[in-house]
Amino acid sequence: MVSSTSEKSVVYGACPHDCPDTCSMLITVDNGRAIKVEGHPDHPFTRGTLCGKVSDYLDRVYSPDRILYPMRRVGPKGSGQFERISWDAALDEIAVRFKQIVNDYGSEAIMPSSYLGHEGLLNGLTVGDAFFNRLGATIAERTFCISCTSTAYLMTYGPTHGTDPDTFSHSKYIILWGCNALSTNVHLWPFIKEARKNGAKLVVIDPVRTRTAQQADWHIPVRPGTDGALALGMMNVIINENLIDADYVEKYTVGYEELKERVNQYPPEQVAEITGIPVEDIVTLAREYASTQPSVIRIGVALEKQAGGGQGVRAISCLPALVGAWRHLGGGMLQAPMWPFPIRGEVVHRPHFIKPGTRVVNQWQLGRALTGELELNPPIKALFVYNCNPVTQSAEQDKIVAGLAREDLFVVVSEHFMTDTADYADLVLPSTTQVENLDLMFSWGHTYVTLNLPAIAPLGEAIPNTELFRRLAARMGFEDECFQLNDEELTMEVLDWSTPVMQGLDMALLKQQGYAKLKIEAVPHAEGNFPTPSGKCEFLSSMKVDSNYVVPVFRQGYEEYPLGEPIDPLPNYTPQRESVQSNPELAKRYPLSLLSAKPHQFINSCFANLPKHLKLQGEPRVIINPEDAAKRGIVEGQVVEVFNDRGAFQVSAKVSDNTRPGIVVAPLGYWRKLSHAGNTINAATAATFADMGHAAAVGDALVEVVAIG
Ligand code: SF4
Repeated sequence: MVSSTSEKSVVYGACPHDCPDTCSMLITVDNGRAIKVEGHPDHPFTRGTLCGKVSDYLDRVYSPDRILYPMRRVGPKGSGQFERISWDAALDEIAVRFKQIVNDYGSEAIMPSSYLGHEGLLNGLTVGDAFFNRLGATIAERTFCISCTSTAYLMTYGPTHGTDPDTFSHSKYIILWGCNALSTNVHLWPFIKEARKNGAKLVVIDPVRTRTAQQADWHIPVRPGTDGALALGMMNVIINENLIDADYVEKYTVGYEELKERVNQYPPEQVAEITGIPVEDIVTLAREYASTQPSVIRIGVALEKQAGGGQGVRAISCLPALVGAWRHLGGGMLQAPMWPFPIRGEVVHRPHFIKPGTRVVNQWQLGRALTGELELNPPIKALFVYNCNPVTQSAEQDKIVAGLAREDLFVVVSEHFMTDTADYADLVLPSTTQVENLDLMFSWGHTYVTLNLPAIAPLGEAIPNTELFRRLAARMGFEDECFQLNDEELTMEVLDWSTPVMQGLDMALLKQQGYAKLKIEAVPHAEGNFPTPSGKCEFLSSMKVDSNYVVPVFRQGYEEYPLGEPIDPLPNYTPQRESVQSNPELAKRYPLSLLSAKPHQFINSCFANLPKHLKLQGEPRVIINPEDAAKRGIVEGQVVEVFNDRGAFQVSAKVSDNTRPGIVVAPLGYWRKLSHAGNTINAATAATFADMGHAAAVGDALVEVVAIG
């Protein structure tokens, strides 16, 4: 707590949303009611500001639409008709149904479904892992984002935080690669601004002229899924023009000769054909990047969402070592600086409960799993959803809805609001918001641990996710010690407080200032020291991975995986599955590449039901280039249908050259029931994977667009 009088107090909080910034917050409480949420002014990275999504977080907390009591379905599935019941009745019903299903079909007939609707180490991604692993449920693989970039990055550098974002202001050449920082990593922007004030150049590589691209010194509109080819072409120029840092390459990398041979297959002329970027731009980019130090590359999450996303990130990640960018303060690369957080996997997942051979089902394929397309044996008979909204956020939306509508599927949803998914629940359970619970936050955008203290008592009968799984464990008769730990005890258990990066950092410090920085080096790789098997940057990777390898954190801590296709240990270029170039037959019917974009006012599907955010964001619109619009007789504002063989959704048209011909961009996050014709972008996306980490290949889809209004 920051301060307290007899009536008012100010309490440390932390934003729980799926965002790399993990803002430190101050919550003012007056007579038990939270009256103000603001950014913590002292936090060195988030610097006292919250984005527009969360600055009025209390509208969310006190929304009249909040779910505050357990509810049981009384109407048809999907009708949204529920009646209030007691917690005892809800827990009893879950326990009875789960025990019956285990008895009739086996425990793998039960599947959890969860993601980063909450990022806390207590209430977030892993909160249900101990319970479901103990139950013997199907393991739900959670690879919606960064499972692919993480694999590619680890293959090159190992688990290093990379360039500390706090040092970006020292950079002289900044590349935001597939990263719309102004909408999705907003607290990095002041550091970039500072660097630019000191003469740095900002380059944005993105198929779309995003808000960030519009602010850049140079926007390079690469074709979707061809980023790896562009990076290979840059390396071709850098090597052939002898712009490498030969000393750095010699001392601190392995596989240079093999890399050289590989990049010689990607001359700029060929790369221009693939990427749609002129030869002279590829050459200029390579020369500027190599010769302006410190240079830094910030990669976004979108890069991986392609058939060849992993190899693309592999190629990009080789660039900083090739030019010796790691030598300098503010130089190198930033993927997700979460790797040094000493999160104790044995605590957050309790993987020792898992029996070898337990079934794994990827949530990106939930629709296929629920509709029988995956031919699962036993079939999924119960789905327990928390911290996510798969109807809007997973692929092949029509299949998910059809699966959830199955009368024989028992569905439980723990939520704040009646989402599209909750509408299909048999039981809906009320969960607390971040101002009502204790949590400890890691970050995938900076290197601070942040504390979130409960500021107010839970509203209605809402409970934290931690308490939900304690109660469920008790109902199921699980007496293991881990289910007896209260939240204060969990905060001490989830991190390894004794590791060097936690030196000088303890709970007393967190309670005193609300956050604390990990003890990491500002220039970690000036002399190599990469945490790879060789201790060097591995252009030729020695990491034993194949296409089925998934970092355990994305699969409830489970480390076994079936053998997949071998992964080329050298960076390579893999074309999209669906593009005009790679699949001309399909492109005859569906000639436009579909990309999804995160709306500025939403975080995934969070906030997309709140009136203020919906009004500010406006109706869902597909951005279409004027050339493509004219060919189809589409005019600004017209209602159009975007479709392919998987499904269709309706939006209005935004005719703009912010996207290049052949590419349309539609928003992700709008709720289905609040949208035109009741479908959203994931009706048209495919439940296919990228080349690494089973990542969701959401950006690899062809569609057609027709005017209907
Ligand atoms: S969503 Fe991101 S930028 Fe907004 S308050 Fe939360 S952490 Fe900060």
